[in-house]
Amino acid sequence: MNLVLMGLPGAGKGTQAEKIVAKYNIPHISTGDMFRAAMKDETDLGLKAKSFMDKGELVPDEITIGIVKERLSKDDCIQGFLLDGFPRTVPQADALETLLSQLDKRINYVIHIDVDKEELMGRLTGRRICKDCGATYHLVFNPPSKEGVCDRCGGELYQRADDNAETVQNRLDVNIKQMQPLLDFYQDKGYLRTINGQQDIDVVFQDIEKVLGGQSE
Ligand SMILES: [Zn+2]
Repeated sequence: MNLVLMGLPGAGKGTQAEKIVAKYNIPHISTGDMFRAAMKDETDLGLKAKSFMDKGELVPDEITIGIVKERLSKDDCIQGFLLDGFPRTVPQADALETLLSQLDKRINYVIHIDVDKEELMGRLTGRRICKDCGATYHLVFNPPSKEGVCDRCGGELYQRADDNAETVQNRLDVNIKQMQPLLDFYQDKGYLRTINGQQDIDVVFQDIEKVLGGQSE
């Protein structure tokens, strides 16, 4: 069960990733974790990656892909893996195809958790934080009983600059622009499975199970 998980910020990727790895007993491989592990273990590639990151530069693809290859070669990936945050570009996706074939593996499915932009805007701009005690609320998922006031201490609630509509919209636009060519790439390969992410968390997961269930039967 070799999977790639895709979705925009706020689509619920993290939550579904946890459920997938628990049910199918495969490792959740996120780019951040992979880099941190390679740097901690001080592998050649980890040290190279670190030298770029320390300078505030992007890690070149050849290093990133090398780190992915090392990670996917480990024993815990024999039954499969869930890749999250990689690939991010079509050249990376191409490189992933090549390295998987070198490892005698292939992708089974690319799971895309699809949520429309308007819904994501609501999810990503709804966070409110108490000025006094730091308690966090969400206008949709966890609203305070009285608008703008902390339930816990009566303090004033505010919105972080990162969460304002303009910033969120820019972030989404950048991600949409980056992700679309990848979706097209995987559609052409026949790997892509689009899941409606605008349902209850458990229903989203049931839809994922329906896709993955076909694999083992
Ligand atoms: Zn408070």
